[in-house]
Amino acid sequence: MSIFRRSLLGALPFLLGLLGHAQADDDQPKKLYEGKPLQALLITGGCCHNYLFQSLALTTGVEKRANVEFTVVNEGGAGTRGKIALYEDPDWAKPYDVVVHNECFADTDDPEYIKKITAAHRAGTPAVVIHCAMHTYRAAKIDDWRQFLGVTSTHHEHMSRYPVKVTVEDHPIMKGFKKDWVTPKDELYIVKKIWPKATPLAVSKSEKTGEEQPVIWVNDFHGARVFGTTYGHSDDTFRDETFIDLIARGLVWAAGK
Ligand SMILES: [Zn+2]
Repeated sequence: MSIFRRSLLGALPFLLGLLGHAQADDDQPKKLYEGKPLQALLITGGCCHNYLFQSLALTTGVEKRANVEFTVVNEGGAGTRGKIALYEDPDWAKPYDVVVHNECFADTDDPEYIKKITAAHRAGTPAVVIHCAMHTYRAAKIDDWRQFLGVTSTHHEHMSRYPVKVTVEDHPIMKGFKKDWVTPKDELYIVKKIWPKATPLAVSKSEKTGEEQPVIWVNDFHGARVFGTTYGHSDDTFRDETFIDLIARGLVWAAGK
């Protein structure tokens, strides 16, 4: 079990140096949300991505923009078939105002295990879902996780720098979003199905087919707000201020603030 407070990471100057910018300046106003600290749980781990770096960039960046306190759970190893022990507790999400899923376990397919995760969100816990969360539990026969996400995706196209076109400009999450944002090198996820309660907020075009794919969206999962983006593959994406701004606005919106 590897649960740690984000603040403990502040003791790792080496990693902070890798971030390429200063530590969260706690004296600055938290422009996006200044109320009572939101308790956020970041769940991460699994295949194919640098989750130590991503977690540090995400938590530091969001805490700089909004009054949020993160707990990070990094479990399940670096393969595609891991499990997070925390989910065995039926009350795993209770202490948190919002849960960020940035995990990557495509081959984990145990339906009872998956239902323990979605049950917490079905009961009202809001969520932010990032990149490989969309391919997590891909092997599962049940659709619970995909309905929770708001999109079904089973593969992605090559790494490239993808222009992002906003489709719902007046959504609170997209306010202030850079109009001509082009991602750092990242993967384009192909979305086979948008679930009925999901609303795409931005799209990118496939360089292979020219078809537009939703890359940023919101979902309503039995009343719980879910914000999602399929971007977030590379460290450079997590270094990008526009991306971290987006995640911070999405998290604050999901938490109802
Ligand atoms: Zn990836």
